[in-house]
Amino acid sequence: MKIIQEKEYHVDVQFVLSFNWNTGGGGFGFNCDEQGNVDLGAMNEVARKNYLDCVSGAIKVHRVGVERFENRWTSPRIGLCNVCGEEVYLDRFTNTCECGIDYNMSGQQLADRSQWGWETGETVADILSVDSEPPVYQEPTPLDEFDF
Ligand SMILES: [Zn+2]
Repeated sequence: MKIIQEKEYHVDVQFVLSFNWNTGGGGFGFNCDEQGNVDLGAMNEVARKNYLDCVSGAIKVHRVGVERFENRWTSPRIGLCNVCGEEVYLDRFTNTCECGIDYNMSGQQLADRSQWGWETGETVADILSVDSEPPVYQEPTPLDEFDF
């Protein structure tokens, strides 16, 4: 199997300029850079109006400042199937291509399932139960303007 992407660890960092209601109970947040500069052109109309109202004092909020958020996630190793050429995500103990060929996490092709367990007396179901807990991936989620 040819590996076309190694497993990678990612850290997405976002900065949000926050304003809270003077009366408490949440406020507004706007995507910004590390210094708190916002991109007015990237905002939708409602967000832009909210931002300008926050800055001008048209609404009763106070500036909290720039908050930093980190989103950590992992992308799996991916290989191309030896038989059909399809991409196979190597994120489990056993990884099966659409064509039925199995690979381990390293991308090594496994013996046909009819041969599994002959030396240990296990069934294919016993062996595959190792994969009963799916891996947890946390996809990055964009942080938009929010009211909280
Ligand atoms: Zn295949």
